[in-house]
Order: sequence, then structure tokens, then C-alpha cells
Amino acid sequence: MEISASFSLQGKVALVTGAAYGIGFAIAEGFAAAGAKIAFNCRSQAHLDKALAAYHAKGIDACGYLCDVTDEAQVQKLVHTVEQELGPVEILVNNAGIIKRIPMTQMTAEEFREVVDIDLTAPFLVSKAVLPSMMQRQHGKIINLCSMMSELGRETVSAYAAAKGGLKMLTKNIASEYGPYHIQCNGIGPGYIATPQTAPLRERQPDGSPHPFDAFICAKTPEGRWGTPEDLIGPAVFLASSASDFVNGQILYVDGGILAYL
Ligand code: NDP
Repeated sequence: MEISASFSLQGKVALVTGAAYGIGFAIAEGFAAAGAKIAFNCRSQAHLDKALAAYHAKGIDACGYLCDVTDEAQVQKLVHTVEQELGPVEILVNNAGIIKRIPMTQMTAEEFREVVDIDLTAPFLVSKAVLPSMMQRQHGKIINLCSMMSELGRETVSAYAAAKGGLKMLTKNIASEYGPYHIQCNGIGPGYIATPQTAPLRERQPDGSPHPFDAFICAKTPEGRWGTPEDLIGPAVFLASSASDFVNGQILYVDGGILAYL
């Protein structure tokens, strides 16, 4: 039996949303190393140009597209273009996401809806766009970037926790509804990962001391550190590959053990 072949993504087309930087970029880089053809999107031309240069600097021939994943017409166009230019999307990673840290009583309905739109409705829209051809080919992998907040509540993250909790259940629903077409949909729940999204939590205080949350994370995470985007690569390659063909509707927490501790 050839174990490494079951982890190969050779020749497969992978669409990773919001992969200009951060976790999405690292996952795309890992997929490329496993042999996949990479398509990604972002919202601004400046980010697109910068990301393409970063991929090319790493020798990755990624194709980048402008698309706001909350807009169904743009999403349909994105998937259609990727399928025409690269071939059917065999792996989708719903990575694009935002967080707004605002106490619930001070949050506007518009701010709440924006988070839910990007973190929950967009994965629905992009999954909906790729599923028909996956069903036709009786094969496909969808990976949703969930969160520890799919399981927990915390101060100031009501919209994010509501959306990521919903994304966990969307993941399970896609698995049960489309599993009969041999499509697997799983989630990855990162712990605290050092990316632009979490940069405010690592900023030093005006007196130069570490941010209290930074110390809290290092103290509470059994591994004793923040995660890096690269920590997500192995789990993502596993869930995108045939090695995980009998894994469906699961959330794999990649958190240095903090969820087990809290
Ligand atoms: P970043 O903020 O570093 O990157 C998010 C990416 O999503 C950006 O490229 C951003 O593009 C893109 N994006 C946001 N909204 C849209 C949109 N409407 N259309 C297209 N692209 C969009 O996030 P991370 O890398 O930290 O996180 C990646 C995923 O992992 C997210 O879903 C996040 O919630 C989740 N996660 C992250 C954790 C962490 O500790 N970092 C922990 C748990 C979960 P733009 O530049 O245009 O804004």
C-alpha cells in the first residue's frame, strides 16, 4: 500500500477563498506542494496583485480573481471562470472570513449582518456554486474554516460565534445532504493563529508590556504558543485528499489543545 499517494492532490483544482494572505495563503501553499492547481479570490486589485507576486515568489502558479464572496452573482461568475480556465473545482476551502470585536449591546444590526454574511452566508453561496459539478462527478471536498467559537461563547464576539456555530452546522448538513454523492464536507477549527485578523490581540500596550490576551493565550494553550498559518497545512491537506474519504461532517480543531483545556 502506498500511503503518500493517498495524501496527494496531484492535478486537482482547489479554490481557496480569501487566500491573499493569512491562513488561506498557507493552505493554498500546502495544496500546491501536494500537487494541486490553485485558484483564489480577494476583494481588491491591490491585494490581488500583492498576493500573485507572493505566490509567484514561492514558485506557485496560482490564479487569482476579484470576487466578493457575499455577492451571489460574483460567486457564480468566479466558479464558472475557474472551471473554464482550470477545470472543475474538486476542492473548495471556504476560508474568507472577518471578525468584529464589539460588545453585543453596542453592535448595530448592520455590523452583525456583515459578519454573518461573510462568515456564514458566503460559504453557503460558494458551496452552492461548486456542488452541481461535484455531484455530476460524484466526487468533491469542501472544507469550511470554522473556529473555537463554533463551540464557545466569549465577550465581544456574538456575531462571529453565531456565524461560526452556524458554519459548523452547515458543514454537517452539506455532509449529510451530499455525502450520497461521495462529497465530503468537513470543518477546520483553528485555535488562536497569528494572522492579520488576530494582530490587535498581540499589540503591545502603550507602556511596552505584552497585550494581556497574548499572555492569556500562551498560558492557556497547552502548546504554550500562538498557532501559525502553517500549522493548518497538514490538517487541510488531509481533509482535501483521498486519505479522508470516509471522514464527513467533522470539525477538526487545530488549536494546540486549548479547547480541551478551557
Ligand atoms: P485574515 O483576516 O488574515 O484573512 C481573511 C481573508 O478573507 C482576507 O484575505 C480577506 O480579504 C478575505 N475576505 C474577507 N471578506 C471577504 C469577502 N467578502 N470576499 C472575499 N474575501 C474576503 O484571516 P485569517 O487568515 O486569520 O482567517 C482565515 C479564516 O480562518 C477566517 O474564516 C477566520 O474566521 C478563520 N479563523 C481564524 C482564526 C485566527 O486565529 N486567525 C481562528 C479561528 C478561525 P480582504 O483583504 O479583502 O479583507
